[in-house]
Amino acid sequence: MKIRVSDIGDEGLHIETHRDPRWLNNIPELWSGDEEMRLVSGIDVDIELTKVLREVSVLGNVSFTIEAPCALCLEPVRLDISPEIRLILSPSEKVEDDDDLEHETYRGEDVDLGDYLRELIAVSLPVKVICRDDCRGLCPECGTNLNRETCECSKKWKDPRFEGLEKFKL
Ligand SMILES: [Zn+2]
Ligand SMILES: [Zn+2]
Repeated sequence: MKIRVSDIGDEGLHIETHRDPRWLNNIPELWSGDEEMRLVSGIDVDIELTKVLREVSVLGNVSFTIEAPCALCLEPVRLDISPEIRLILSPSEKVEDDDDLEHETYRGEDVDLGDYLRELIAVSLPVKVICRDDCRGLCPECGTNLNRETCECSKKWKDPRFEGLEKFKL
């Protein structure tokens, strides 16, 4: 995703663009089907670039939708993710590769946002997905989805803290 610095006028430059899932070549497991978490949309990029002298600021967001099984009940969950882009690009003789996601450098006349956006997407992925705050998960005994049905297991289940009390009664 290359942008010519000279194309950024006094008014700034607004860019709206769409990328295919395969554009995410840093996280191929999101579209290859090898992982439970997968991308179910393309990637929309909406950014506003402004330039002060040779310093370029980029504001906007990137949005996409993933699907992953709920960590508790395993039902598929769709999640819209839209990390914010707040980036300053400074001209530099050498392009520095550091971990700072808010400051990058560029060389020559072109700014390439591809790697930056791919990294931003990678770090915005959730570690786990839960379908709702009060998901009751699966019964550890029989596997029933407790959001939809109840089972008899919980009735039989004894709170270990009360075990001592029962013995005491006997
Ligand atoms: Zn759930
Ligand atoms: Zn059960």
